[in-house]
Amino acid sequence: MNKYRKLVKTVTHTLTNSMPLKKRKKITANNLKSHYDKFWLEKINSESKMRTYRNLKTNFGIEDYLVNTKDYKQRKSLTKLRISAHTLAIERGRYSRPPIPANQRKCTACSDNSIEDEYHFLAICKKYEIHRKRLYEEISKLCKHFNDLGNWDKFIFMLTADGDISRAVSTFIHKNLP
Ligand SMILES: [Zn+2]
Repeated sequence: MNKYRKLVKTVTHTLTNSMPLKKRKKITANNLKSHYDKFWLEKINSESKMRTYRNLKTNFGIEDYLVNTKDYKQRKSLTKLRISAHTLAIERGRYSRPPIPANQRKCTACSDNSIEDEYHFLAICKKYEIHRKRLYEEISKLCKHFNDLGNWDKFIFMLTADGDISRAVSTFIHKNLP
């Protein structure tokens, strides 16, 4: 069976001829969407470079930050961090010859001896402490529970927020991301 026929069979298998057309259309659309979401999820889970992205994205669609962050440069910085298009050690090490093992791609900007990945950059690294303090103050004004979150949850929150929070995070990234 070719791919197309297989897909049609998958999205129409629950239909019966006795159903009204409207209902059949609705079921088909829903099945198609869940099939597509599943495909998308499998794809991002299978690519190791998508490590940050898969923590953020569970559904296919245009994300709020792409719509709400109007400034092109800011939107670009946020996207760069989300899809790992930057020169933090975790990415630099991947492309050096020979490649540096992932667990040795350490941050040289601080003395933490931590792997320099997106999480370390945005939520941990002491090099950006002063700018981060300002950013957190700004976010706390907009979301009073922000400071109660742990570092990992803060990280996820910052990269999935929209509106003014997204703009503040983008500015931080734009200023500091190597
Ligand atoms: Zn560091």
